[in-house]
Amino acid sequence: MKEKERIEELRSLLHQYNYAYYIEDKSLVSDFEFDLLLKELQLLESQHPDLFDPNSPTQRVGGGITKNFETVFHRQRMYSLDNTYSEAEVEDWIKRITKLLGTDAIAYTCELKYDGASINLTYENGKFVKAVTRGDGTKGDNVTQNVRTIKNLPLLLRGDFPEVFDIRGEIILPLAGFEALNKAREAAGEPPYRNPRNTASGSLKLQDSAETAKRPLECFLYAVDEENTSFDHHYDALCAARNWGFMVPDTLKKVSSSKEIFAYIAYWDTHRTQLPYEIDGIVIKVNALDQQEELGYTAKAPRWAISYKFKAEQISTPLLSVDYQVGRTGAITPVANLAPVLLSGTIVKRASLHNADQIEKLNLRIGDHVYVEKGGEIIPKITGFDPAQRGALEDAIRYIEHCPECATPLEREAGEAQHFCPNAVACPPQIVGKIQHFISRNAMDIEGIGAETVTQLYQNGLIQNIADLYTLKGEDLLGLERMAEKSVTNLLSGIEASKAQAYEKVLFGLGIRHVGATVAKRLAHHFGNLNRLQSATKEQLLAVEDIGEKIVESLHDYFSQPDNQELLQRLVTYGLQTEVVVKTTASSILEGKNLVVTGVFQQLSRNEMKALIEDNGGKVMSALSSKTTYLVAGEGMGPSKKSKAEKWEIPILSEEEFFKLLKM
Ligand code: AMP
Ligand code: ZN
Repeated sequence: MKEKERIEELRSLLHQYNYAYYIEDKSLVSDFEFDLLLKELQLLESQHPDLFDPNSPTQRVGGGITKNFETVFHRQRMYSLDNTYSEAEVEDWIKRITKLLGTDAIAYTCELKYDGASINLTYENGKFVKAVTRGDGTKGDNVTQNVRTIKNLPLLLRGDFPEVFDIRGEIILPLAGFEALNKAREAAGEPPYRNPRNTASGSLKLQDSAETAKRPLECFLYAVDEENTSFDHHYDALCAARNWGFMVPDTLKKVSSSKEIFAYIAYWDTHRTQLPYEIDGIVIKVNALDQQEELGYTAKAPRWAISYKFKAEQISTPLLSVDYQVGRTGAITPVANLAPVLLSGTIVKRASLHNADQIEKLNLRIGDHVYVEKGGEIIPKITGFDPAQRGALEDAIRYIEHCPECATPLEREAGEAQHFCPNAVACPPQIVGKIQHFISRNAMDIEGIGAETVTQLYQNGLIQNIADLYTLKGEDLLGLERMAEKSVTNLLSGIEASKAQAYEKVLFGLGIRHVGATVAKRLAHHFGNLNRLQSATKEQLLAVEDIGEKIVESLHDYFSQPDNQELLQRLVTYGLQTEVVVKTTASSILEGKNLVVTGVFQQLSRNEMKALIEDNGGKVMSALSSKTTYLVAGEGMGPSKKSKAEKWEIPILSEEEFFKLLKM
């Protein structure tokens, strides 16, 4: 069939023109010619629906509607990066990894830190098949339809690419495109978008991909999946990816000394304003993949990489007064009220002063002209004052001694910077804050109730603590403002549904000081249930990874208070989850056995899987070898792992089979 051949020819030509234009920065044909060929292809495709190809150049114009973005687990977790703000911190990092690796023969790559939305792309047999957002790091949203419209993203790869692999990058909106978009919005009487980064990530979640196609998004790549490729160095992998057709910016540089790293930082600190897109720093990575593997990861970030954030813009403004806020843990935060001033595009009126020490260290007085800057945090901070503008009249800041909300004398523990209001059970912002924390998204994620409702319920005397949520009755709520029948039903069913929420969420939701989401998860899985956690000794607690003295003390403090014991007892009675559902029983079934873990599991995270192996006497190896006893494979095992396992005749166990082996 002649038309079939013409379709193929057109597709291949258009892919080629596209690559030349967006990756090589070369125009092989005029825009007019390009459009003509595209129209011809569209027409032919419409006459031959049987020849549909999701990766045809015609698909870049979008048109598919996504109502709900499907949740997809990442084959490998998407970590964040540890930040540094000074050369000294970068030096420290280099020293640290030099010590860990036991050598100073370390090469690095320096890359720009593109400020957009991170994305994980999957390619199979050279074809783009899937794009998933970072989400919470383990799972994200499937935004394939929208990402397919991004012009510099290859839909078909060139050259010698691996059969199946993932690649990661950042989707950004260049400044010119951002400004054009905002002009159009203003013309239409719509409020402008705030910044390119949020607009880029928002663009990925549009329901109509034709809308995404209209936004001039670009995708920059910065990490090639190592599990399914066979590179020894990060830099080589990125160069190869460039040859397969990906946009790997040529600002990427391989270096081998701290001197070169600092030269790169210095260069981009002054030249970043000339880039057509925003960056928020640079990223330094260890180049050799075996060294990366040796360094491994912390709970949040790789040890083999670090980001350096550029110094933020600074401005000076008078300090008018200081307020004191009481957080949910009773921690007091002094907040500066400033004469309003424009900083990096937003008006700043308040800034955090952190604690009494900070005020003392900065030696501030009311009336001083203080320097304000925006760091990585949303709330700006004060970094100093201008002595030249200090007169004789400025008042010293006298730190409060009593809680501004309940008048209880404040306390400050030895070695702690923060003052605390110890009145946890009756200090209003603490009560409200704790309940708000409990219902929040990362904790119990209770639908039908928001932070304001919590305040309202508290003010009406309906709740005093988190357990009271579970005794709320429809008739108590119906009379309240903004509480129609429907909202009441939603609220009550949200609370009812939260009884099924996992134990680790309950534990995090309690709001115990220093017990964040990660620590809660770790404690939940290590001890299995609340009882065992409550009766754990100090030694047992300290033996858990990432758990230090501070956390142990805080836990003991929390569990020893009768009010809290009663609260927990009530939560148990109401039917909240207080044990991990997948039992991580200990045994010696795996004694003397070496296991390798790969892929994504349904019931456990990869780290939990590793812990489970160790709890049952096995040893976890990072790579397959002839000494491996079992390969435990979740979803998305790479072909190279599979063929290696077959070569050495290593049994591959699915998640199910593995649990069976452990008699779970
Ligand atoms: P953060 O969100 O500050 O923890 O930083 C981690 C994020 O930086 C990653 O999720 C990426 O989206 C982003 N990023 C931007 N450029 C790079 C790069 N060159 N290498 C690695 N990550 C990058
Ligand atoms: Zn108080």
